[in-house]
Amino acid sequence: MINKKSRDEIKRMKHAGHIVALVHKAMKENIRPGLSTKDLDDIAMDVIKSNRAVPTFLGYNGFPASICTSINENVVHGIPSKDVILNEGDIISVDVGATYGGMVGDSAWTYPVGEISQDWQKLLKVTEEALYAGIKQMRAGNVLDDISGAIEAVANRENYGIVRQYGGHGVGHVMHEEPFLYNYSVGDKTLIKSGYVIAIEPMINLGCDEVESLADGWTVQTLDRKPSAHFEHTVLATDGEPELMTIIREEFL
Ligand code: MG
Ligand code: MG
Repeated sequence: MINKKSRDEIKRMKHAGHIVALVHKAMKENIRPGLSTKDLDDIAMDVIKSNRAVPTFLGYNGFPASICTSINENVVHGIPSKDVILNEGDIISVDVGATYGGMVGDSAWTYPVGEISQDWQKLLKVTEEALYAGIKQMRAGNVLDDISGAIEAVANRENYGIVRQYGGHGVGHVMHEEPFLYNYSVGDKTLIKSGYVIAIEPMINLGCDEVESLADGWTVQTLDRKPSAHFEHTVLATDGEPELMTIIREEFL
C-alpha cells in the first residue's frame, strides 16, 4: 500500500530533507583529492547530529556508516573507509539519509574530484538530466511508468546503461516504502496521487547495464568497470508542480 503523507508528515519530511541537503552542501565544499571517504562520513555525521537528526543508513541492515560513498565504477552502497582516498579525476557518488521527527529524507549526488574527463562530465550531466526528467512526471494523475519512461528516454538517447536491479522507492516513516520505481519502462500503471512521496534515483552507467555486488556484501560495481553516476531527490506529488523535499529551506536554518 502506498501512503499519502499528511500535512504534518510532509513538514517533518521537509525538515529531514533540509538536513540531507545541508550534508550535500558540506560534501560539495569538502570533496577534494587527498581526502578519505571516512573523512566525508565524519563530516556528514557532524552535520546530521548537530541538526538533531539521525543518520538513516547507520545500522540499516547492518550498514556500518552514515553515508554511502561509491567511487568511479562503484555504483551504490560503497562503505566509507580511511583507506579509500579521493584522487584527481575521480567521481564520487554520495548517498545521504537523515531521519528527523521520525521521517526520512533521501538524496544522492555524484561529484567530480578536481578536474574530470569530458566523457565523465557528460555522464554526470545526463544522469542529473534524467533525474529531473523523472521528477517532472511526478504529478497527481500521472502513472509511475511516466517517471520510469522519462528517465529511460534520457539514458537511451546517449546509449548509456541503466542499472536494472535498483531503483526509486516510496519514502516516509522508513527509508524504503512502497512503491518500487523502475528506472526504465515496465508498464506500471500505478496512479500517482497528491501526497505521495517518492525518492527518484536514476543510476546510469557509461557502459553496460550489468552490475555485481562485491565480497564486502555492500558495494555494487559495474561489470565492465566503467563509471556510474547516481542522482536522487525525495519528491512530493501535489495537484500542481512536483515539490523537492531534499533542498535547503530558509525556515529551518
Ligand atoms: Mg539514497
Ligand atoms: Mg533512495
